[in-house]
Amino acid sequence: MLLHYIWIGFRNDMAAVLYNTVVNVRNMESDMGRGESGLSEEYKLGDVIKLKKTHPCGANAWEILRVGMDFRLKCTGCGHMVMLPRKEVDKNFRGFLKKTSEES
Ligand SMILES: [Zn+2]
Repeated sequence: MLLHYIWIGFRNDMAAVLYNTVVNVRNMESDMGRGESGLSEEYKLGDVIKLKKTHPCGANAWEILRVGMDFRLKCTGCGHMVMLPRKEVDKNFRGFLKKTSEES
């Protein structure tokens, strides 16, 4: 990211301004979607994840039933299922409670 700004410093023209705008929008998106880490976690079906969001039933552990643009999550407390956009999952992600390995 630092390199982007250095590069822009050498090219103070419209293209650079446009590029800067694109970079800023991308940064905003990744800030919203990925929290502080800047990396998306590797979610697998069957994983149980902990979210910041607590379900009304009191549980904040969710089993992953589907991954993709939207995640299908099942509340481990009451079995309620929700669809959540991936960026919401990333934003609220607080750790894995159960990890399903692909090898086994
Ligand atoms: Zn629940």
